[in-house]
Amino acid sequence: MPRIHQLPHNVVTKIAAGEVIERPSSVVKELLENSVDAGATRIDVEVEQGGAELIRVVDNGCGIHADDLPLAFASHATSKLTNADDLFNVQTLGFRGEALASIGGVAQVTLQSRPADESCGAEITCHGGDLSPVRPWNGTPGTRIEVRHLFYNTPVRRKFLRTPATEMGHIGEAVTRIALGNPNLHLTLRHNGKPVYDVPTSAGLRDRIGLFFGAEVSEQIYPVEAEQGPVTLRGFIADPACERGTAKLQYLFLNGRWIRDRSLAHALQEAYRGLLMTGRYAVAFLFMEMSPELVDVNVHPTKTEVRFRDAQAMHHLIFAAVRNKLQREDLTGRLRVSSTLAPPQAQEPSEPPWSFEPPPPLASYLPFPTAPRVAPGHVQAAPPEAASSAPTADSAADFPRPPMHLNGAKAIQLYDAYLVLETPEGMLVIDQHALHERILFEQLKARVGSATLEKQQLLIPESVELTADQAARTLEQRTALAELGLDVEDFGGGALLVTSYPAILGNRSPQEILRAVVDYLTSKERPPSREALLNDLLSLMACHAAVKAGDHLTPEAIAELIALRALAQDTHHCPHGRPTSLLFSRHDLDRQFRRI
Ligand code: ADP
Ligand code: MG
Repeated sequence: MPRIHQLPHNVVTKIAAGEVIERPSSVVKELLENSVDAGATRIDVEVEQGGAELIRVVDNGCGIHADDLPLAFASHATSKLTNADDLFNVQTLGFRGEALASIGGVAQVTLQSRPADESCGAEITCHGGDLSPVRPWNGTPGTRIEVRHLFYNTPVRRKFLRTPATEMGHIGEAVTRIALGNPNLHLTLRHNGKPVYDVPTSAGLRDRIGLFFGAEVSEQIYPVEAEQGPVTLRGFIADPACERGTAKLQYLFLNGRWIRDRSLAHALQEAYRGLLMTGRYAVAFLFMEMSPELVDVNVHPTKTEVRFRDAQAMHHLIFAAVRNKLQREDLTGRLRVSSTLAPPQAQEPSEPPWSFEPPPPLASYLPFPTAPRVAPGHVQAAPPEAASSAPTADSAADFPRPPMHLNGAKAIQLYDAYLVLETPEGMLVIDQHALHERILFEQLKARVGSATLEKQQLLIPESVELTADQAARTLEQRTALAELGLDVEDFGGGALLVTSYPAILGNRSPQEILRAVVDYLTSKERPPSREALLNDLLSLMACHAAVKAGDHLTPEAIAELIALRALAQDTHHCPHGRPTSLLFSRHDLDRQFRRI
């Protein structure tokens, strides 16, 4: 049995460095944070070979006193907190006093600095943890740090570095986060002598979003603002049409610090429920401000995870603010015309395991015939709020987004699947199935809400044989199912009795309906919440009761659908999040034909 011994100092530093410095972008992040904490208004970052050869960060911040230079590289040495209580009142991005020690332990670092009120600066080097003497340095006020040959003394880690392009991608991300979190900062990034980013002080948040993510994003975002007790929230959320295949464009900042937070990411996705297809993610840039005592940032060495004192309130704040904003916007998709006419990236909705016969034709299906008809000129969509963007030539923000007057509009059916309408705003193309599905969904939901969903009582209850597990899982949801009009009772031995079912599904056998519900319930790992269950089953019901692509519609049916669009809320997306309609604006038509 080997004996226990204390690890040598250089090994300890390398272990500690492993936690904080994973790759070149970690160095960039830590150095940028230090410059921000130093009050810099301008930071220039220069990188060679993806950061493996050189990372240089120059700032105009407060500088470091010559006598403190050796301490800057000592671990647990910081100017940012003095006692344990300060840990619960962190006002800076750094506070652990670990970054420079870690970087100095695994690279060859030169640190040059001059406080503004000193006539001369000083420099020091730290190579693999070995400090040089402090020498005078003749430079301008601020701090200049050069990190060369990262991981030169840990060859295994150096080998793990990816291509310069990949490492540069991570560095770009680190710069993006700092630039978004500090909107008054002038930040530049160069790679191998070429400029990558130059973000001037004058660039506001929307400009910065445009700079990093392109006009496609910055022209499709809406400002949000909310306040709840001691917490304020502001930022931008993107139109659902701007969705992505990953959650990477969901930026959350707390007091200027970029954070990752699963619960808040969940709140954001929940707010977009019904507007995005499964597996698609919203784009958002949200900035929260609160007093530092309300949050613990000392959770992880990289300081990107936090613990909120009231996590539930935070979840609610994000959900409500985003949801409200989305409800107030007219989210009818707009075909963006740029150099090419890009089709929206629609993929088949992942529809749940629900297998019904094709439904009967539309006439018998506008299911609530009492739905009022709309008088011509009646207004539907709520008027939008003026987006606060500076409109540019071909942006969606060009259009003041007036309410759409659809009644009496000329409509034709194409391919038995789409309806094309002339509206004052432009040419509107409607997906007949998606729209009808959405309308039915809204109607059903309203009926569940007011407990007026019609159900069909069975004169003779029908028994359905299931496995014991299936029966148990279904009975667990009995109350929620009853809200949908589906009443089941335990018949013993794994069998259930169906005593009533939703009237809208009148053509299906009760057995078929129950089995579809059971398939849905057993496809879930955990029992769904009441809300999720109602939402999912209503959307299934709507999907199967709606007209399909391929159904030929009479002019009356078309008129009825369009009139219903006017009445229902949120008709711009089907319950699975596919758009129901796309607008090809008049402006774009005129522009494409060179009329303007
Ligand atoms: P921390 O940021 O957690 O305090 P670091 O190891 O990153 O720890 O930095 C150590 C100390 O060095 C900081 O507390 C700060 O006093 C000083 N320092 C580092 N970088 C800068 C800079 N760019 N400008 C001024 N002071 C700096
Ligand atoms: Mg730091």
